[in-house]
Amino acid sequence: MKVTDHIAKAKNSLFSFEILPPLRGHDIKDIFYTLDPLMEFNPPFIDVTYHREEFVYVEKENGLLQRRTISRRPGTVGICAAIMNKYGIDAVPHLICGGFNRQMTENALIDLNFLGIDNVLVLRGDPLKSEKSFFAQKDGHQYAVELVEQVQNLNNGKYLDNTFEQKDSPLFDFCIGIAGYPEKHFEAPNMESDLFFLKKKVETGGNYIVTQMFFDNQKYFSFVKKCRSEGISVPIIPGIKPITSKKQLNSLPSRFYLNIPHELVKEIEKAKDKKIVSHIGIEWAIQQSKELKDSGVEVIHYYTMDKPENIYKIVQAVY
Ligand code: FAD
Repeated sequence: MKVTDHIAKAKNSLFSFEILPPLRGHDIKDIFYTLDPLMEFNPPFIDVTYHREEFVYVEKENGLLQRRTISRRPGTVGICAAIMNKYGIDAVPHLICGGFNRQMTENALIDLNFLGIDNVLVLRGDPLKSEKSFFAQKDGHQYAVELVEQVQNLNNGKYLDNTFEQKDSPLFDFCIGIAGYPEKHFEAPNMESDLFFLKKKVETGGNYIVTQMFFDNQKYFSFVKKCRSEGISVPIIPGIKPITSKKQLNSLPSRFYLNIPHELVKEIEKAKDKKIVSHIGIEWAIQQSKELKDSGVEVIHYYTMDKPENIYKIVQAVY
């Protein structure tokens, strides 16, 4: 079922979460370990992130460097199939521009359709660690909006190559999620520009928005207000992540370009051990979630980052 249909059918605020494929060499059991406890709360859909390959440089015996391509977290589509098979819950694969050309994307969408997947979260992907800015694959997409257009074209029965015989009615009807940034995407020169391109993604076919994580609800409320005044009317699903370590006070802002409120930072800095940090993070996320739920958000989306115990405690307190 489409995410937008889950939202339309729901009487109360829903919750969903996002998981990462296990690291190469690990088992699908890691995923079930994350998901099993959360099934008690009947999540309507679960997102599975996509991780493109990276380049590493290995020194050879002769001292020269050899470039190797590695994919640390493969298996997004397989995990989606496993989730649907084991739990009967909609899985939402993330689909990115990076590393894909148009033909590869079309083939991936055909696979997803054959698996009975109804939703995709369409993203550009970040620049490779070895590169300063994002570069599209040859014959790939530079921006998420172009990928949204390709998915929407398939929804309208338009393949890349229309020379073969195809059914009269389109086979595809993907519900398309897109990303939004309450504190602005790091490359955007200003919020107005970022909203302009966000609106383009919606006009091209984006059916709902999932936000980057934030720790101050006022950032989300102000973002939603700006979106609405720009005429963006689709659901805007807030993304929440509990802080779990002191290290994250620096790593989250540098990785996701967000602010952590002073009050939260002060509390975490005072904490004597990891357990207390985790408790503070959970309590903060509970307060954020309660306020968001009371404000009438359709869904709250949790970033599990392989820590299901924390999400369990939050969802138990909020839902
Ligand atoms: P875009 O919408 O293409 O925007 C990128 C930047 O370009 C923005 O600054 C925007 O303002 C600007 N822009 C957009 N269109 C144009 C245009 N036509 N001309 C000029 N400028 C333009 N990454 C992964 O690799 N895998 C994942 O699974 C993943 N999941 C995510 C889930 C969520 C909910 C979020 C919020 C992010 C996720 N990301 C993931 C990270 C995401 O790929 C990065 O944030 C990426 O840098 C931007 O992706 P986007 O889809 O927002 O890009």
